[in-house]
Amino acid sequence: MSRVRVCHLYPKELNIYADRGNIAVLKRRLEWRGHHIEVHECGLGESLPLDADFYYLGGGQDRDQLLVAADLATVKGDHLRSVVADGAVMLAVCGGYQLAGHGYTGVNGVRMPGIGILDADTVAGSTRLIGDVAIDIDIEGRQLTVVGFENHAGRTHVGSGSVPLGTVRYGHGNNDSDHTEGARTGRAIGTYLHGPLLPKNPDFADLLLEWALAHATGITCELAPLDDEIETSAHDAALARRGSRPS
Ligand code: GLN
Repeated sequence: MSRVRVCHLYPKELNIYADRGNIAVLKRRLEWRGHHIEVHECGLGESLPLDADFYYLGGGQDRDQLLVAADLATVKGDHLRSVVADGAVMLAVCGGYQLAGHGYTGVNGVRMPGIGILDADTVAGSTRLIGDVAIDIDIEGRQLTVVGFENHAGRTHVGSGSVPLGTVRYGHGNNDSDHTEGARTGRAIGTYLHGPLLPKNPDFADLLLEWALAHATGITCELAPLDDEIETSAHDAALARRGSRPS
């Protein structure tokens, strides 16, 4: 039995589309395996706890991102870069993804600084990219199809210092043109997929949890399977629903 610490960054400001549900999934899937999880919330002006195994940044509207961007870059940026470089997991969703890159130029032209953990840069376009999305991910020998929902003005381009998280099966992805979605450097992941992301993608949730456990214990392990019948049918229903519609 191990103890995993999760740091939820800006839970008040960055929480649209029930992104908080991602934390609930991390918690329950670890507890069901007999592990212990502590979730620490870290808000504006608070210094980053350095002992977490998993750092989470949710999504938000441009005005929510504006509230946190400077704090993230100045109060927490150096520490977050250093813990992630040391192998802690980071999951950043949508607005959080944009700020985990080099920065985001929002709809009104204001540039928000990012923290450069991901080699990605984002500029808002004149239309929003909205709808169901599915991506194919090939990560550490595992092939996963991850489903979700996206709603963003930002167009993100990933540089050579990160790899795209996946390839778009349907939906818009990073920029609606190069068929990539998300970005990854080591155990740091950014993605546009809301939903929230993890309840319908239990395999992906477990991959992240295995990384967090490896960080907590120094031992790489594969988690025992759970009865994921409900989660899997939600996942498959999302794929089937889209498959029956014209793209
Ligand atoms: N405000 C950002 C955009 O519109 C992110 C949106 C989000 O987190 N859903 O691109």
